[in-house]
Amino acid sequence: MSEKIQMTTPLVEMDGDEMTRIIWAAIKEELIEPYVDLKTEYYDLGLKYRDETDDQVTVDAANAIKKYGVGVKCATITPNAQRVEEYKLKQMWKSPNGTIRSILDGTVFRTPILAKGIEPYVRTWKKPITMARHAFGDVYKNTEIRAEGAGKAELLFTGTDGKETRKTINEFDGPGILQGVFNTDRSISGFARTCFEFALGEKKDLWFASKDTISKTYDHRFKDIFEEMYENEYKKKFEDAGITYFYTLIDDAVARVVRSEGGFIWALKNYDGDVMSDMVSTAFGSLAMMTSVLVSPDGYYEYEAAHGTVQRHYYKHLKGEPTSTNSVATIFAWSGALRKRGEMDGNKDLSDYADRLERAVLANIENGRMTGDLAGISTLDHIEKLDTMGFIKAVKAEI
Ligand code: NAP
Ligand code: MG
Repeated sequence: MSEKIQMTTPLVEMDGDEMTRIIWAAIKEELIEPYVDLKTEYYDLGLKYRDETDDQVTVDAANAIKKYGVGVKCATITPNAQRVEEYKLKQMWKSPNGTIRSILDGTVFRTPILAKGIEPYVRTWKKPITMARHAFGDVYKNTEIRAEGAGKAELLFTGTDGKETRKTINEFDGPGILQGVFNTDRSISGFARTCFEFALGEKKDLWFASKDTISKTYDHRFKDIFEEMYENEYKKKFEDAGITYFYTLIDDAVARVVRSEGGFIWALKNYDGDVMSDMVSTAFGSLAMMTSVLVSPDGYYEYEAAHGTVQRHYYKHLKGEPTSTNSVATIFAWSGALRKRGEMDGNKDLSDYADRLERAVLANIENGRMTGDLAGISTLDHIEKLDTMGFIKAVKAEI
């Protein structure tokens, strides 16, 4: 066998929980370490160690991504009351993804992995649609009031100079509900910049959609920030790259998306992105075939799978029962991170290896070798359903 591919800069490696932690170790051992002289700075984000370190390990990992530029993360448990009991936690720690996102201030881009035999539910879709969700503010940082009876609801802003802007929201003649939401020019600009940069990197058209006809100040501000930045900084670059930026009303966008061939990036506000990315990923076939990358406006990248820790499979695994868990999105998290590392370091061998690994995964699925979730939806005639390790071993044989 030829010599292993060398790395100059380490990847920030964030281990995780349950079934994906098992898959994580197997991917490294079977699919990466035999071919790459893997250098990582390892952070154990498994729930037990997060608890031991009072979640400091998550903060340290996020800061390491700022230092090295590229991280790869395994799925992790976001604790709820049941997990606090199960792991005897000191407290209900916050979502690691949320913690990392708030430190890196990024946008999450999600792209389906297409393979022959796994057909999108929408017939016209030939190429992947990448969803770009603004991950700050709006309804996720809202303030709500249940009005118990009649009364007046007002929106009040007090500037640091003491100047007040006041508007009536509604004169209630009986009980009702109200909510306040916000966003900041700073966060929206970061979102816009990340989307423009990502589109240039991927050489794909960028669409952005909101409800500016109804929300003439709030949504309109998003539209204006994108428009100004495009005109002032990106128009020429987009033209040179042969791609376009396109704004349209969200109602129009959904109709166009369904009729499209795919192949573009669709940027959306926080709530729209949350809902639409679940719909688009499901319509492409499977959550286990969805890649996810967090890109910060400063150019840091964190790769992960879009799915969770696959708890139900893990409990079967613990009982010694066979499992057929799909490792594709986690393998693509690794290949995405290795490719980006290669690009940043001018290490073509490393980027080429990422391509080779992905081709091996797709060749397997397109030749009928796949895990149970895909076997259930594949349109191929001859399918060999593999167990969790069987699939990883088959990818290795293909490499
Ligand atoms: P999940 O892990 O995504 O799994 C939900 C179901 O989807 C599974 O039971 C399985 O269906 C199917 N599935 C998901 N990924 C699969 C794969 N790779 N291969 C085959 N089937 C797959 O979501 P969850 O069970 O709701 O959450 C489990 C834990 O993950 C939670 O503690 C949650 O906090 C965490 N989570 C983490 C992240 C993250 O770190 N990014 C994201 C989401 C959730 P069947 O059981 O029908 O086979
Ligand atoms: Mg959602």
